[in-house]
Amino acid sequence: MALPPEFTPEFVPEYVFDGEPPAGEAWDVVPGVKWLRMPLPFKLNHINLWMLEDGDGWTLVDTGIDTEETRQAWESVFAKTLDGKPVKRLIVTHYHPDHIGLAGWLVEKFNIPLWMPYTEWTTGRMQAAETLESARGAFHDFYKAAGFEGERLAQVDARVGRYGSRISPIPASIRRIRQADEIEIGGHIWRVIEGNGHSPEHACLYCADMGLLVSGDQILPKISPNVSVWPAEPDADPLAEFLASLERFRPLPSTTLVLPSHNWPFLGLLERLNDLRDHHMERLDAAEAACAGPDGATGVAVLEALFRRELDSHQMFFAIGESLAHLHHLVTLGRVRRETDARGVHRFFATARAPVAQ
Ligand SMILES: [Zn+2]
Repeated sequence: MALPPEFTPEFVPEYVFDGEPPAGEAWDVVPGVKWLRMPLPFKLNHINLWMLEDGDGWTLVDTGIDTEETRQAWESVFAKTLDGKPVKRLIVTHYHPDHIGLAGWLVEKFNIPLWMPYTEWTTGRMQAAETLESARGAFHDFYKAAGFEGERLAQVDARVGRYGSRISPIPASIRRIRQADEIEIGGHIWRVIEGNGHSPEHACLYCADMGLLVSGDQILPKISPNVSVWPAEPDADPLAEFLASLERFRPLPSTTLVLPSHNWPFLGLLERLNDLRDHHMERLDAAEAACAGPDGATGVAVLEALFRRELDSHQMFFAIGESLAHLHHLVTLGRVRRETDARGVHRFFATARAPVAQ
C-alpha cells in the first residue's frame, strides 16, 4: 500500500505503455511476461500483478485484495490467458493485503506452493490473528503517545483486526526466498533484491537478461512508497532501512524497465532512486522545522505540518505513521530528541540552536 499519495513532480518517468490492461485482461510486457491490473477499493484504486511464463506452466507474482471483484477478474484471466498451461507457483512480494490478499485462494485452487520472504509471511499471519482483545492496549498506547485524542483516538479501535478482513487465510507453509536468491522461471534467472522500510523484507525480482525489475511497492514512479512506524514496533526507524535498501538498486542498468505495483511500467530507475531520497530529505527538513519551537511538537503536530490537505481516516493512519518515521529518523541522526510528558505523550525537540544574531 502506498498512501497518502505524495507526488514528487521533479521526476518525470518515461512510461512505455499507452494505457493499461482492463481488469481481467493481461498485456505482454515482453514475450512471456504479462501485466495484469486489478481494482482496489481505496483512493489508490488499482494494483499491478505479473504473470511469468514458466516452461510448461505459469508463475504468478502477487494477488490483489480479497474481493469478489478481484476473484472474478482472476477467473477471466485464467479463462483467456493460460494457453492451456497450469499455474505452477505463486510468488508474493510482501504481506500487505493488496499483494497477499488472494494467496490462500490461489494456493488452494491450483494446489501450488507459495514463495515469499519469511518475515513477510509471519507478519501477515500475525496481523491476521490480531483481535481487539489482543492488540487494543498496544494500539491505544501508541496513538496516544503520538498525540491522538478525542475523535482521532476513537477511530483507533476500527483499525485493529482490519487486515484479516481483506485477505483469504494465508497458507500455513511457504517456500522461503531471501536477498540474492536466484529463481529460475521459464529459462530466465530472477534475482531477489530485498527492500526494507515499506515492509519488513519486501522481495523485488530482477531479471538481468530481460532487463526487468518487478519492484513491488519498494519503488513506484508517481507516489512515494509509504514508510511508517506502526504499533507493533513503536520505536522503529523504518526510514533508515528504506533509504539504505534503495542503494541495492543503484547498480542496475539505466535501461532497466521497472514493473511497479502501482501506476505504470517505467524507465528512469536511477533518477527515481535519487528523487525518492531527495523527497525524504525534504520531509526530514520539514519535520525538523516543525519541532523547532520551545515546546517542541507531538507526532500529530508534525503530521499537520507535513500533510496540509484534508485526509480521510484511512490516510490519516498512514500519515501519522509516516510523520513518526521521519521523526524517529531525525532522532537517529541526532537532529531531534524525544521526551515523554506527564500524560505519556511524546514530544520531539529540534536539537540545533537557532543562529544567534551578532
Ligand atoms: Zn505495500
